[in-house]
Amino acid sequence: MTAPAVAANQSTQPAPAAVAPAAAISADIEKIYYGDFLAVRDARVAVERGKITGFIGPSGCGKSTVLRSLNRMNDLVPGFRLVGHVNFLGQDIYAKNIDPVAVRRHIGMVFQQPNPFSMSIYDNVAFGPRLNRYKGDLDERVETSLRRAGLWNEVKDKLKQNGLALSGGQQQRLCIARAIATEPTVLLMDEPCSALDPIATRIVEELMLELKTHYSVAIVTHNMQQAMRVADTTAFFSVDISKGGRTGYLVELGETKQIFDSPREQLTRDYISGQFS
Ligand code: ADP
Repeated sequence: MTAPAVAANQSTQPAPAAVAPAAAISADIEKIYYGDFLAVRDARVAVERGKITGFIGPSGCGKSTVLRSLNRMNDLVPGFRLVGHVNFLGQDIYAKNIDPVAVRRHIGMVFQQPNPFSMSIYDNVAFGPRLNRYKGDLDERVETSLRRAGLWNEVKDKLKQNGLALSGGQQQRLCIARAIATEPTVLLMDEPCSALDPIATRIVEELMLELKTHYSVAIVTHNMQQAMRVADTTAFFSVDISKGGRTGYLVELGETKQIFDSPREQLTRDYISGQFS
């Protein structure tokens, strides 16, 4: 498989050949700072191809911080600094010649709160391809994206309607359609169901299982049942308070069944059995 080009000014150049890595993203994060604050340490995580990787752990353990580091979304936060490497199909996305905007085109993101733009459903989905000066059939791209997001049948007769007029669950699926319209390789989802009701949550969970046939997916969730339902691999993070700070770190990563049925670490066992305070 060939790595998409993410280096600055190289988007039309052939990408360097990747050494067929097992994961779409493999991150070796030594430290992440916000200013002087050490938010995360020692997080070695991977987003495996064609699978869903779940990030779980108590609030403040750095799940979102790590997820957002995987497509350089945190670059937008003043004071953010990462020590380590994040490899995407063989390229370090933090290398000097890499264009973060191109990274985000290949590694899309869906946020906790559905955030459609105040524009038509069609224009929401067409936004990314237009920005990238997509030369193909835009109608077809919009339809395919909406179909993959499981929304086409509900909106095909009202594509000119404002995206904000949809229900919360539909809005989140519209955001998923918008994210996949640029044909990313990886989809990062930061608590995508936490603002949704149980029915909309179930629809989005079922959708994730479809999405992984086209994309490699990583999801942050505070809901352990959700991780059990959708994630193939689960990464459990905790918070180290031993040095007076609150620094998140990766405790254990493994197949979801192993993490929940036979965790290697006592901390994981305590957390999944509800004994974590
Ligand atoms: P989680 O997703 O596990 O709840 P976060 O990644 O949101 O954890 O936060 C990890 C730590 O980093 C927390 O202590 C949080 O307060 C801090 N943090 C998160 N975002 C920022 C930011 N933009 N600026 C400063 N500190 C932040």
